Amino acid sequence: MDARNLIGGEWTETTNRTAVQNPAEWNHVVGTIPLSEAQDVDRALRAAQSARRAWKALGAVARGNILSQAANLLEAHLDELGLLAAQEMGKPIGEARGEAARAVAILRYYGGEGLRSVGEVIPATNPSTLQYTTREPLGVVGIITPWNFPLAIPMWKTAPALVYGNTVVLKPAELASLTAYRMWELIASLFPAGVVNLVLGLGSVAGEALIQHPLIQGVSFTGSTGVGQHIAETAVSRGVKYQLEMGGKNPVIVADDADLDLAVELTVSGAMRSAGQKCTATSRVIVMEGIRHEFTDRLVNRIQALQQGDPSQPETYLGPLVSQAQYDKVMSLIDRGRTEGGRVLTGGTPVGGPLARGYFVPPTVFDGVAAGATIAQEEIFGPVVALIPVKTVDEAIEVANDVRYGLSASVFTRNLKTAMACVEGIEAGLVRVNEETAGVELQAPFGGLKASSSHSREQGRAAIEFYTHTKTVAIRPS
Ligand code: NAD
Repeated sequence: MDARNLIGGEWTETTNRTAVQNPAEWNHVVGTIPLSEAQDVDRALRAAQSARRAWKALGAVARGNILSQAANLLEAHLDELGLLAAQEMGKPIGEARGEAARAVAILRYYGGEGLRSVGEVIPATNPSTLQYTTREPLGVVGIITPWNFPLAIPMWKTAPALVYGNTVVLKPAELASLTAYRMWELIASLFPAGVVNLVLGLGSVAGEALIQHPLIQGVSFTGSTGVGQHIAETAVSRGVKYQLEMGGKNPVIVADDADLDLAVELTVSGAMRSAGQKCTATSRVIVMEGIRHEFTDRLVNRIQALQQGDPSQPETYLGPLVSQAQYDKVMSLIDRGRTEGGRVLTGGTPVGGPLARGYFVPPTVFDGVAAGATIAQEEIFGPVVALIPVKTVDEAIEVANDVRYGLSASVFTRNLKTAMACVEGIEAGLVRVNEETAGVELQAPFGGLKASSSHSREQGRAAIEFYTHTKTVAIRPS
C-alpha cells in the first residue's frame, strides 16, 4: 500500500516517501507513506480554510447525516482495517478489529449529535428580549494523533470537530499512517472537498508546520508529554485554542477483600493488551499485604500463560512493540528496574526464536518495587507491571497519587467504603471500581489530571467544549 495525502478532495503525491515495516517481522514492508513538507501542510490548510463557510452553512443535521453514512461504509471493512493495523503497528487482530468497530461507533454517536440540542435560553432583564446561547465552530482545526490507536483516536477527534462545523487537517503518527489513510480513503468521498484533509509525514516537519501555521484556529493533540508541552507553548504564544491528551502511569489498587479472579483477569488485561501500549494501561499494581502472595502467584501464572506472537493471528494475546526505539526504551527501563532493587518474577529478558525478528518484549512482572523507583514513576508503554506492596488503603491512595501523571486508576474491592475512599482520594481523570484501567466508553468524558492532560475532556458531549465557542445572543423585537 502506498499512502497519499488528501488535500482539497484530491489524493496527492509528495516528493519523498518512507517505508513502513511490520514490527512483528522486520523483513516485511507493509507499505510506504509520504514525507510531507511545509508546503503540503500549507495547501491542506488553505483547502480547509476555503471549505469552512460552506461546511458551517450546511447545518448540524446534514453534517451528522454524512458522519452516519461514513459509519455504514466503514462497517463493511472492519476485518480489512483490523488486519492492516495488526501488520502496521502490531496490535493483535482481535483488538485491532474491535478498534475499527469503535471508530464506526464514534461516527454513529457524532452523527446523532447533529440532532441534539445546543445552547440554552437565559432569562433577560427585559422580558420581551430573547436571550440564548449557541455554539460556533472554531474554524480550521489541526489534529495530531499517536500510533497506538490508529483508528479510534483520529476518529474521536475528527468526528466531533466535523459535526460541530469545523474543517480539519489531520496529521496521524508516522508509525500508523497507512491505517489512518485507508480509513479515510474509504469514506473521504462523502465529504465536500477540503472539509477533511490528511497530511502524512514526520512530526518534526509536517506536525511542526501544522502547529505553526497562521490559519490554524485550534489544535487537538494526543501523544507524549514532551511534544504536548511544546504544542501548548506554541499555541499559547499564538493565541490558538489547544487540547492535549498525554501520558499515564496508571495504578490498580488490589484491596485485601478483592475478588481475586476479577482483579487478576482485569489487571492482566489492563497491563498486557496492546502489549501495554495504551495511555490508560495498568503500570503499577498497588497490592495490600493480606492478599499479596496469593494475588502475585495467580497474576504471574496467568501472565505466563499468555500467547505471544504474530498479531495477525486471532489466538495472539500479546504482539510486538511498535518500533525499535520503543523496544530499546522498554528493555532499558527493565534493566533500570533491576538495578534499582526490583525483583523480576517473570519475563525481563529478550525473547528468542522466530519472535527475535520482531520487537517482542516478554510480559514482565516486577515485585517489591519502591514507590519512588524509576519503573514506578516513568511511563513505560510496554508489557511491564510493577507490584508495590502497601499496608493500608490510605497508603495505597498515597502511592497511587505519588506520580506526575493522573489519567486512569482502578480499585478492586468488595467494600463500598474502600471503593468510595479511592474514588474520592485518587487524583486521576478516570477512577474505576472493579474495572480495568483501560476501556473507557465513547459516550463518557475522557481525559486526565496533572501531566496527563491539558484538563479538557474528549469524547461524548464533552467534546463540544473544545471544538466550539459559546456565542451569547440577545434579540429584542422592534
Ligand atoms: P509522540 O508525541 O511522539 O507523537 C504524537 C504525534 O505528534 C505524532 O503524530 C507525531 O508525528 C507528532 N509530533 C511529534 N513531534 C511534533 C512536533 N514537534 N510538532 C507537531 N507534532 C509533532 O507520541 P507517540 O509516540 O506517537 O505516542 C505515544 C504517547 O502517546 C505516549 O506517551 C502515550 O501515553 C500517549 N497517548 C496518550 C493518550 C491519551 O489519551 N492520554 C492516548 C494514546 C497515547
